[in-house]
Amino acid sequence: MPGISTLLVNPPGITQHRQNLFELHTKFSLSSRDHATIWPYMSNVWSFKNKNLPTATAPYTDHHYHCRLRRAPDVPKALRARINNRNVNGRKHEVTKCNCTMKVREYVDGRREYIAISGFLHTHDLDYSDLDKINEVVKQAV
Ligand SMILES: [Zn+2]
Repeated sequence: MPGISTLLVNPPGITQHRQNLFELHTKFSLSSRDHATIWPYMSNVWSFKNKNLPTATAPYTDHHYHCRLRRAPDVPKALRARINNRNVNGRKHEVTKCNCTMKVREYVDGRREYIAISGFLHTHDLDYSDLDKINEVVKQAV
């Protein structure tokens, strides 16, 4: 899987964790420590949007994310023109625009819950996200 580097000692079960954090079929949670280890592997999938601070009635912080492939795909001809000119800043994807949104709910004790909000299923698979952009962990290993 391109989202995991063989140069690293990856956390146990990272492949399944990444798939769960991609699909979000069910709500599940991780400890603060596990979140800190595993979430950077998802930096190429989920893009931070905003957060809601805790209130008296909602004593947790909700961090909202949208899929990085939310933007509309480029026209293929324009993409070819840029590649031929070697101007590859901001590589563009060619899959259908993806509207998946999710939130990470952070509780006072540091535990995190991962909750799908809308747009599921993704219009692409996790491998496509890994090929479109490398995650923080792999980037730092290279
Ligand atoms: Zn997506």
